[in-house]
Amino acid sequence: MGRPLVNDARLRISRSHFPVTALGPGLRLGVWGQGCPLACSGCMPRGTRDPDGGVEVGAADLERRWRDTMDRGATGLTVSGGELLAQAGAFRRFLKSVRRVGSEFGGDLDVLISTGYKLGEIDADRVEAVDLADAVIMGCYDAASPTDPLWRGSANQSLLIRSDSGRRRYAEWEDRRAARPPWQMRVDGTGVWFAGIPPRGALARVDRAVRSTGLAFRSVSWRSGSSGL
Ligand code: SF4
Repeated sequence: MGRPLVNDARLRISRSHFPVTALGPGLRLGVWGQGCPLACSGCMPRGTRDPDGGVEVGAADLERRWRDTMDRGATGLTVSGGELLAQAGAFRRFLKSVRRVGSEFGGDLDVLISTGYKLGEIDADRVEAVDLADAVIMGCYDAASPTDPLWRGSANQSLLIRSDSGRRRYAEWEDRRAARPPWQMRVDGTGVWFAGIPPRGALARVDRAVRSTGLAFRSVSWRSGSSGL
C-alpha cells in the first residue's frame, strides 16, 4: 500500500464508473466532474453543470477507487465534464495521486482529460493540471459542427498529446475515425446515463424506443430546458 494522502482535498463529481471503454483506449476509470461555468452550444451533460449538484468526494476516497480499478486491470483514467478544471487545486492533487498509485503498479497507464477550455484560455493553475495528463481533448462542444474522429464531439475540439507515453498510447488512435463511435449506456439509481459521444441520431432513437414502451423520460440532460436525468 502507498503512503496515504495527507491532504484530503475534496472534489465535486457527478459520478465515476469502471470500466469505461468508450472514452479513451483500453479499460478506464471514468470520472465526471460536477459544476461547469461554460455553456457550450448543445451541451449534452447539462445535469453536470450545476456546481451544487453531484456528490463531494475526498481525494483519499477517489484514490482508493483508482487503486481498486488498477487492481482490476484499469489501463487509464478519463476525466470528462462537468468541468474539473474549475476545481483545479483539488483536481491537480487527485491527478498526482493517480500518478503515484500508477507508478506502484508499474506506471503503465494514461490520463485523458476532456475539457471545454482551450489551452490559451486557462490560467497557470489549470495548465498545471493539464500538464499531468497524457492527452487532452480541448474546446467547447459545438452541436452545429459534428465530427467523427474518436472521442471528440465536434470538429472544433482537438486532441492534444502531452507526454511521451501519450504519444505511444494515442499514436494509433489520434486520427482514427469511427463510423459508429463507441458508446456505453448504463442504468443506475439516478436514471439512464451514457459514456462516450453518442452516434448521430442515437439519443432521439433512445427517446423513441422508451416512448414505444409507453414510458417517457421525466427529464433528459441533452435538451435545453431540462435539468438532467
Ligand atoms: S459540454 Fe462540457 S464543457 Fe461544455 S457546457 Fe457542457 S459540461 Fe460544460
